[in-house]
Amino acid sequence: MSFRSWCGPDGLGKARETPTGVVLSVDMVVMLPDPEWTGEGPPEEVEVEDTYELPCKYVVCSRCNGKGTHVNPSIDGNGITSSEWAEWDDEEKDHYMSGAYDVSCEECHGLRVVPEVDAERCDPVILKAYEDYVESAYDGYAEEMAERRMGC
Ligand SMILES: [Zn+2]
Repeated sequence: MSFRSWCGPDGLGKARETPTGVVLSVDMVVMLPDPEWTGEGPPEEVEVEDTYELPCKYVVCSRCNGKGTHVNPSIDGNGITSSEWAEWDDEEKDHYMSGAYDVSCEECHGLRVVPEVDAERCDPVILKAYEDYVESAYDGYAEEMAERRMGC
């Protein structure tokens, strides 16, 4: 299982098409200047929990390398080792090579491309908050994987 599949089919947040392009809407907390700040100097920052939209661009899917399909993971898991390959009979090898074991890509669902947050077009404050959010989610994922390995 990859980090992406752990955190949902669309990663963290939901990709959505808009007239101006694809965006990722994410529910998260961002530190923003307090709109009610009336004191002296720069406004205090407050945590604002909301749905934020980050502009995205489409990049070639790294799971299938833009093919839209990949071999069913139940067949080859994380790739075939040469010893596994040697155990297969010719028919199985033919099937594999001809793509008979292929399934629609788990990551891009056959679209060949996946939306990726376009850092250049993002508000730096929102981008930073998103990166922190991804990082903390990734820590949670790494922890869960470690616990699983230990059989918890
Ligand atoms: Zn793909």
